[in-house]
Amino acid sequence: MIYSDLKEKKILVTGATRGIGKKIAMNLASQGAHVVFNYREGKEEIAQVLKGELESLGALKATPILFDVTQEEQIKEAINSFVKEYGPISGLVNNAGISKDQIFFRLKKADLDQTLDTNLKGAMLVTSSLSRSFLRAENVSVINMSSVVGLMGNPSQVSYSASKAGLIGFTKSFAKEVASRNIRCNAICPGFIETEMTETLDEQVRKAYLSKIPLQRMGSVDDVAQLVSFLLSKASSYITGEVIKIDGGLYI
Ligand code: NDP
Repeated sequence: MIYSDLKEKKILVTGATRGIGKKIAMNLASQGAHVVFNYREGKEEIAQVLKGELESLGALKATPILFDVTQEEQIKEAINSFVKEYGPISGLVNNAGISKDQIFFRLKKADLDQTLDTNLKGAMLVTSSLSRSFLRAENVSVINMSSVVGLMGNPSQVSYSASKAGLIGFTKSFAKEVASRNIRCNAICPGFIETEMTETLDEQVRKAYLSKIPLQRMGSVDDVAQLVSFLLSKASSYITGEVIKIDGGLYI
């Protein structure tokens, strides 16, 4: 689906170096957007390759910027210097995320901190660093990548699901706070999505997962990317503070 208003729109996607984020960036590139994506120290080469891929897909431009979502100063510096050069960013996809699965009684504080710092605080810091840019832009849309486990919980994913549930609270409060400025914010809750991570799943485990999904298939990164483009576009201009599951019916 092509959304004409995404053409030339400046959109920042975090965690676009692989998986779901990469497909989101590719979809936006094929819409003709100016795709901005972060990369971490030591990943310059991956960033340059991705920049080339996105521009060959049709991006107006693809600009890699260096920051880790847990490093506030790095985020501010990268975003401010981008905005100074190119002008305000009007779309944000807070997609970067990690999971450190462990049963609760064995959970280490360092893993809990890293999960909350990346998944929840990281999204809040990036959004906050863009606040002035958002006030100068039009049709601003922010999308937070939560998860279906942020709604339904999952054993061994206590810190992950807490971080994803936290993102839902952030989404709703932020949406209420900025709606009068015509800034929208929504959360997406994917279920099981085929990525490099799920490719290695044991056949038995895969079957067990599938038996719980009414649509009887895993989701694809393309399913998620299509939803993100819709939420960034004016086609969804009356939707804010919403939490949208994309899980094949897993959590009906
Ligand atoms: P991947 O592990 O494939 O990719 C994660 C991305 O996040 C990478 O680009 C990684 O960059 C980046 N990242 C991680 N930590 C940081 C950090 N501190 N600073 C900057 N970037 C960081 O994940 P998926 O594509 O599978 O998932 C993407 C999002 O979707 C996540 O938020 C995940 O929780 C969520 N999700 C995924 C589901 C699935 O089935 N796959 C289901 C539900 C939700 P780098 O290359 O530098 O490591």
